[in-house]
Amino acid sequence: MLNTLRLFRFVWILATASACVLWRPTAGSVPEDIAAQAAVLEAQNKDLQATELGDIPKILDILASNTKFGGHLNVNGKLDPSALNVYVLAPKLKQRDGVPAVFFTANVFGNCAYTGVSNAIICDSDFVFSFLQDHGINGNWSDRSGWTFQDAFLAWILGHELGHAAKGDPAAHFGQENVLTRPTDAAIELSQKLETEADLYAARQIETDKKLATVLENLLIRLMNWEIEKKNGKSAAYGVGLNWDYADKSVVKYFTDQNHPEYVIRATRILTALAADMHEDGLQALLESFSRHLSPKKEKKD
Ligand SMILES: [Zn+2]
Repeated sequence: MLNTLRLFRFVWILATASACVLWRPTAGSVPEDIAAQAAVLEAQNKDLQATELGDIPKILDILASNTKFGGHLNVNGKLDPSALNVYVLAPKLKQRDGVPAVFFTANVFGNCAYTGVSNAIICDSDFVFSFLQDHGINGNWSDRSGWTFQDAFLAWILGHELGHAAKGDPAAHFGQENVLTRPTDAAIELSQKLETEADLYAARQIETDKKLATVLENLLIRLMNWEIEKKNGKSAAYGVGLNWDYADKSVVKYFTDQNHPEYVIRATRILTALAADMHEDGLQALLESFSRHLSPKKEKKD
């Protein structure tokens, strides 16, 4: 009996050891989910996390209210696989000495990403704070007086990532750089489809708070106007709404061959959904006309 037990233990150890050898990732090609798991592990380190969270917990409550994550939210806490786990990294972390290398491997910097493992989302607070500033909109991150543009932007990002998590999508990033290692047309097409779905999911969740949805609409119009002006110069058509002069036949060119549609496209889609759901006929008509004049442009490959 004892011998049988010993033999069994030996075989078990042997099997475990060989499994470890088989599963050990080779240097230079760390599989994505292993990098994601390691990043989630590191993100639980309090020293690497942001302490200022703005309205993030309040916004997450609204976004998750009617989902399986309603009441199961974990922000910067110990990983709870049954909850939506959101990790917000400390400001200026990327520039710090000794920052975990896996944060670079898993593309968490300059981004907000659904990791694809353990319902975990990792957000670089530098990205969250600076995106609006980089797009001509100033705002205070810690301003708690009603919903701000910063809040609406957070709701968009987090609602988008929640959409990926709720659907069980593969790992996905909000931003557009360095996401696919080997972009193929099929991969880009699938990625754009998932991104659009995640954006529309965000819109529907945000609509559960009418005031927040209205602030997001205003923010998206501001962002689109900023993009239009950047690409087409100042328009003759000023006023409320999109500063886009269709009489002049100006078009807004956008890239079609990236895995994430450019922001102007994403903003148009999400705003169209909001305008339809909130029965804003004027805005809907304007967006329909605007969408027809968007023109695809292929990215130059070198
Ligand atoms: Zn995404």
